[in-house]
Amino acid sequence: MTNTWPKNHLTADDLDAFHSEALSSEMRLHLETCEDCRRLVVLDRQVLEMLGRAPSYAPSAEFADRIMARVQVGKPAPVPVLSFPRWTRRRIAAMVGVAAGMAASVAWSAVNRQLLESWLDGSTAALWNTGAVLWQNGLTYLAAQPWFEGIRSLVGSPVRLGAIGALTIALYATGLLTLRRLVTPSAGSVSNAGA
Ligand SMILES: [Zn+2]
Repeated sequence: MTNTWPKNHLTADDLDAFHSEALSSEMRLHLETCEDCRRLVVLDRQVLEMLGRAPSYAPSAEFADRIMARVQVGKPAPVPVLSFPRWTRRRIAAMVGVAAGMAASVAWSAVNRQLLESWLDGSTAALWNTGAVLWQNGLTYLAAQPWFEGIRSLVGSPVRLGAIGALTIALYATGLLTLRRLVTPSAGSVSNAGA
């Protein structure tokens, strides 16, 4: 019988089935004829007995309390609605650098105005014209749409236009604040630490 191993010898599942008296009749027949498997069953029973005699290492009743006594649970910290980056030396230097660059650019443009205009009249002018034509074509196309008249009458008066603009800005600010709340990690206690 040993030459057909491992197909016909008892597996670990068969051993479990044997201990719970649920072994199949086929394997029961094999057990009657196989010396190796009978030895295996005896050894396995010894292992089970040893495991049964081993002391239990279940945590004591105060275990969780002793652990939690050492855990420092911080108080929930309020999340500021607005916060600003810290004034580090590098950030201040970067801001001063950007501001100085902008001031220098404005000063240079004011002093060399004619030179700048000659540049703009040159190669940039062609690009500018192309952009203007595209923009005009886009506006013409937009005005030809059937829904355009409705929107134009809705936004007709300057007061209404201002109100819509203010509403849009308010919605945008609300969206930004909501997004900020969403991406800010919760400062509350970890819920499953006390479970
Ligand atoms: Zn066997």
